[in-house]
Amino acid sequence: METVPQPTPETVSLEAKSPFEMRVHLGESVPDTDVRSALKTGDLGFLHSFTTGSAVDGPGLRLVAWTTSCMFRCQYCHNPDTWTLKNGIPVPLNRAIEEVQKYANGLIAMHGGFTLSGGEPMMQDRFAARLFGAVKKMGVHTAIETNGYYGERLTDEELANIDLVILDMKAFTRMQHELVTGMHNEDVLEFCNRLSALKRPMWLRYVLVPGLTDIPEEMEAIADFGKSLGVVERVEILPFHQMGRYKWDRLDIEYKLEATEPPTGQSISNAIGIFQDAGLNAA
Ligand code: SF4
Repeated sequence: METVPQPTPETVSLEAKSPFEMRVHLGESVPDTDVRSALKTGDLGFLHSFTTGSAVDGPGLRLVAWTTSCMFRCQYCHNPDTWTLKNGIPVPLNRAIEEVQKYANGLIAMHGGFTLSGGEPMMQDRFAARLFGAVKKMGVHTAIETNGYYGERLTDEELANIDLVILDMKAFTRMQHELVTGMHNEDVLEFCNRLSALKRPMWLRYVLVPGLTDIPEEMEAIADFGKSLGVVERVEILPFHQMGRYKWDRLDIEYKLEATEPPTGQSISNAIGIFQDAGLNAA
């Protein structure tokens, strides 16, 4: 079992080395009435952490804020500590804006930007919308990594403050989506169609898990759908890994992928090929 010391509300730092750091109970002291008010106004957000220097969460080098709370329960989730809102650090909106401001000039100079990820950022949609509004005013490129389920929570004007939507497509058919995440995906597909109508740039991501998501028909359906949207600039195949496994153990949640190996190089190439065959830029 992993023995990395776990931060407490007294010792925790807003910045983490990586989102794989286990963080729990950091917002437990916030009363439920304050949580409700925070969700309504966005004055306060709950964050796992900020990380710097990411090269995989959007174009260029990214400052990433990782939110807590998620409505899905993906079998392959590598950060199940972010499922629970109050596992995150309560961070006033102004404090989060200051954190981005610290890096703004560097992010602009390096053609990078700010990414809001999670968890699922749209679980805290007011905080997300206000933070994006402030970051956009700094002239910093903005991106959201989302499962898309609560996309309707953001207005068209709020979406205009997000330069790139990185949509984590879990599956295409409802049955497979429910198997992978525990939830249906009608709202996800509807959000994609809305982004397409608004001509908002998108990337698609797909986690390739042997025995769970390496299904050609699912990927072909996502690829055809993605192509039809006309706004998908890039598709990323993310190979499954076991880096988050220790969190499932520590949280004592049943983990169904205990024996699952990462996909082979051939399987990754095949998946990329499916998206390329549909005419998408896939890697
Ligand atoms: S949507 Fe993301 S954070 Fe939520 S359960 Fe799935 S992988 Fe985890």
